[in-house]
Amino acid sequence: MTLHNQIQEKYDAALNSKELLFFETTKVLKEVDGLKFEITYAPSLAKKPSSDPTMEEKKKIKVNPFLPPNPALFVQDLDEHSVVLNKFCIVPHHIIVVTKEFKSQSQPLFPSDLLAAWQCMMTAFGTTPALAFYNCGPFSGASQPHKHMQILPLQGQQPQPPIKALFNQIQDRKAGQIYVMDKLPFVHVITPLDRNFIDSSTDNEELGDYLAQMFFGLLDAMFQQLRKHATPDREISYNFIMTDQFMMLVPRSRELATLVQENLQVSINSLGFAGMLLVKTPEELAALENHPDLMQVLKDVAYAWNPNADVEDPMEQ
Ligand code: AMP
Repeated sequence: MTLHNQIQEKYDAALNSKELLFFETTKVLKEVDGLKFEITYAPSLAKKPSSDPTMEEKKKIKVNPFLPPNPALFVQDLDEHSVVLNKFCIVPHHIIVVTKEFKSQSQPLFPSDLLAAWQCMMTAFGTTPALAFYNCGPFSGASQPHKHMQILPLQGQQPQPPIKALFNQIQDRKAGQIYVMDKLPFVHVITPLDRNFIDSSTDNEELGDYLAQMFFGLLDAMFQQLRKHATPDREISYNFIMTDQFMMLVPRSRELATLVQENLQVSINSLGFAGMLLVKTPEELAALENHPDLMQVLKDVAYAWNPNADVEDPMEQ
């Protein structure tokens, strides 16, 4: 059975047995500087089970939900990873690719991680395009310390993550070159992937090495940009986004964005930097919908470009 079919079967069964909880959402689109932010409102997520005393106990002793994964949510074993369904699901078929052994969510992604993510992205949802992401480190928006990447089918009103519109504006893009996008007011780096090379590769080791070479090149460039524009006073966390066209990294200064006027805080993870924001209360929704500049919300939890840093950067377009 294909991974796609396995996911569908397992999803239906887990939903039926209530081992997987699906939360209804509504979406609002809001365009800022060519980026059509998708704000997803999931009111019932605010009521995610937590009053159950056994849940509270479990939280205290920090149960690792991925070691072992719940058999009702387990889909398939890969070499070094397991594919698991997201237990608290707002996008049907959302999968999590977890390391079989405990590894830290503060580690970078290695060839085997990237290969697993790429292969799942290509096969998990049939012809539906997908987005892979990794929330790395304590300020990245991750809630689990066990190394896990996540993959979502992109079935919404926009077939690609909203950030793709800005990627498309990079003139004369070349695979493997590292770019910054001048409409984003915070430190980030992005690189187009070489689909000709990837699609012609028949060797998994070669493909994993290629993806890791792109990832570590990007990570190096992210640290270079960060040194130039900021003086981080804490361990570096970052968000990683990968589609079938590009990889992107954004270093994070904090997890929670403060919506000052509303005196509210929302957690932002990699999806926020893909242009997809999640809110759980009507107050949070109103605050984002009425926010004068959603880019500032992202800037608040990233590192702002320093306008005095060297402008003649070879990476600037
Ligand atoms: P993050 O919050 O980015 O660290 O991602 C952790 C993901 O794991 C979230 O999407 C949760 O919904 C999901 N999750 C939490 N507990 C479980 C579980 N027992 N089985 C599968 N997924 C889970």
